[in-house]
Amino acid sequence: MADPAASGKSGKVVIRNIGLLLSGDLDRPILDADTVIVMDGVIAQVGREKDCDTAQPTTLIDARQTCLAPGLIDSHVHPVFGDWTPRQNQLGWIDSSLHGGVTTMISAGEVHLPGRPKDIVGLKALAITAQRAFDNFRPSGVKVLAGAPVIEQGMVESDFAELAAAGVTLLGEVGLGSVKAGYEARQMVAWARKHGIQSTIHTGGPSIPGSGLIDKDVVLEADADVIGHINGGHTSLSEAHVCELCEKSSRAIEIVHNGNERVAIAAAQAALQLKCPHRVILGTDSPAGSGVQPLGMLRLIALLSSLGNIPAELVFCFATGNTARLRRLNSGLVEPGRDADFVFLDRAQHSTGRSLLESVQLGDLPGVGMVMIDGIVRCGRSRNTPPATEVPVVLTGH
Ligand SMILES: [Zn+2]
Repeated sequence: MADPAASGKSGKVVIRNIGLLLSGDLDRPILDADTVIVMDGVIAQVGREKDCDTAQPTTLIDARQTCLAPGLIDSHVHPVFGDWTPRQNQLGWIDSSLHGGVTTMISAGEVHLPGRPKDIVGLKALAITAQRAFDNFRPSGVKVLAGAPVIEQGMVESDFAELAAAGVTLLGEVGLGSVKAGYEARQMVAWARKHGIQSTIHTGGPSIPGSGLIDKDVVLEADADVIGHINGGHTSLSEAHVCELCEKSSRAIEIVHNGNERVAIAAAQAALQLKCPHRVILGTDSPAGSGVQPLGMLRLIALLSSLGNIPAELVFCFATGNTARLRRLNSGLVEPGRDADFVFLDRAQHSTGRSLLESVQLGDLPGVGMVMIDGIVRCGRSRNTPPATEVPVVLTGH
């Protein structure tokens, strides 16, 4: 039997007795299935136990009627290096987020690096180094997509070609550097897109001393792929302007925990009214001035579901499948061929909600009972969430 810890491969994993299977797919958020089969980190089968090949697993997991959902994807973080953040001088923040159900994080720029270079050669070197470093080292198994340069005035098309050729796939938040005018941003965003690099724009008031306002006209003119923290990070544009962005742009609507909560709800509801819920993606924008929030994704899900009156199974899709599709990731959906990145959830002990989904709709955080990345168990009962009523049990394997 292969040892997953030593080989880095999960082998065959059978997960049975799933009580609720959230797919991550807005068009079919709840699957009629109780079993998932994983082969070497990839989902092989999803269905009823009698229809699945459950023989001879390397690892057998009894989900004990808890909920299996795709691992949460935090669309907006600011990592630096390793599992350390200088923003609040904290160690282990990524591991803490794993305990909040996060399996993938996407950098919106390594902007907190002390002495961050702002010259063009330096910013390119930092982006390439950050991309390589997080590709080579995953804190606690969490997939951190980093290497997101903050664009500066004076960059030319060949800079974007060079970054793309070196493996950079993201831009840091447009507007955090010297490129703040709409026409300048639009040109660089177009160069990035031409070379396969996805862009995100800072939306709203300044985040910390030294950054500036990006208003709705700049956001619309720049036309970045992601309207970054549409609800501000922290200071939001007016609700009317945020709704106008949802209506006039066709780009991703990113809502973050470290933003204006009232406008977060308004943006999600605007997307639903405009019949474009597939555009909504969620992030934390942490580490931030408000600190690191290991449960930030779960808190945002509970906020949008409870105060925003959006069914919890749909909000989970904002945090998983929507982001995977818009960010071109092979996770975020429970279907064959996708990465076996899962979070097991149950209603928190003594929640007044009778089921997981009802508890979230009533505003309670769910309990995380286990997190799996690439088919390998990365943590059992969360040290950070309120305790889940029931947790999965590993019956065989390592
Ligand atoms: Zn920002």
